Amino acid sequence: MTDAQSFAACYRHTGRPFVRGVGCELFDDQGNRFLDLGAGVAVSALGHGHPELVATIKKQAENLIHSSNLYDTPAKRSSVEKIAQYTGFDRVFLSNSGAEANEAALKIARRYQQLIKGEKRYRFVCAEKSFHGRTFAALSATGQPKYWEGFGPLLPGFDFVPYGSVEALEAAVTPETAAIFIEPLQGEGGIVVPPEGYLRAAREIADRTGCLLIFDEIQTGIGRTGHFLACHSENVMPDIVTLAKGIAGGLPLGAMAHTETLAAALPPGSHASTFGGNPVACAAACTVMDIVAEESFLASVRDKSSYLKSALRQAVGHLDCVEEVRGAGLLIGVALNQPAKPFVTRLFNAGILTTVAGGNVLRLSPPLVVSKSELDEGVTQVTKALSTPASEE
Ligand SMILES: *Cc1c(COP(=O)(O)O)cnc(C)c1O
Repeated sequence: MTDAQSFAACYRHTGRPFVRGVGCELFDDQGNRFLDLGAGVAVSALGHGHPELVATIKKQAENLIHSSNLYDTPAKRSSVEKIAQYTGFDRVFLSNSGAEANEAALKIARRYQQLIKGEKRYRFVCAEKSFHGRTFAALSATGQPKYWEGFGPLLPGFDFVPYGSVEALEAAVTPETAAIFIEPLQGEGGIVVPPEGYLRAAREIADRTGCLLIFDEIQTGIGRTGHFLACHSENVMPDIVTLAKGIAGGLPLGAMAHTETLAAALPPGSHASTFGGNPVACAAACTVMDIVAEESFLASVRDKSSYLKSALRQAVGHLDCVEEVRGAGLLIGVALNQPAKPFVTRLFNAGILTTVAGGNVLRLSPPLVVSKSELDEGVTQVTKALSTPASEE
């Protein structure tokens, strides 16, 4: 392997490049096997090398790779229909990433308030410790000052409230608020599950005050929590939802879906993306969504979720460094009383891929097709890793 001198310095390198993946296993260029319990940060929903997904991608690449948004393609058409059908929204804008889906959501919210409703609403109420992406508006909505450092000034109009507090939401919404913009479960912030009723309260506040409600389901959507959308489990629908990560099984695709009411805010020419709706990514998304949306598949995610949570609680719940095992579906966090990074590194060296969330949380977000024996292997290794203090090796 050549050294990594040419990479932008914002990425650290492990020096063990992955060359191949099968199911929940990845192999580096030396043939070493890793158990992937991160799925590329909740992306590879069907695991690696899923035969049906690979066949779809091959076939679409042979037929057509790009046509632009000036024209229609069957792949784009059916992915949009499926997103609408499975999420319960009316209209879908396709992007290439999560941050871009959020940009589209923030833009349509302002435009709807200002041009369609004729109100001077431009502010967004967001949550502390949220994560919405790295572009300027998404970054401005991200309630973690460490991500802002050196990038100021950010976009004006973003207000932050503690996540999970209905009173704080209530107090922060003003006649200038265009939308409440939150994750239904905070992913990067540390796998933070809000108190029951929080999402419904946000819906009620938005309805009462005339602002919109946007859910960022980029990490929680597409079956990750054992429901097609996390908000489906509470039966609370926002006006706009954003998706990305798992949607196309690893190909770059994002989506911003919204209700019919908002359609007038995005007439032709008001927003666009050159690559958004790429036929190969869209075809892949159709295959992923058809598999994930099956009730039996979603039920298996919920089943494996309880299995993993109780196994982890039993195995590591009593350890000094462990505060709590939490999360939904296959988005599980082991909250520690110290930084999780050393343990993630230790697990990597033992051939297990996990990620850090919110600094102190060890995140498990395996492919949704993970088996119980693979989860067992994960629990054994996580237990081993957490059983010796971070400073000792
Ligand atoms: C990952 C993530 C994003 C950003 O997605 P990108 O594709 O990296 O732009 C936004 N919101 C949430 C909740 C995420 O988890």
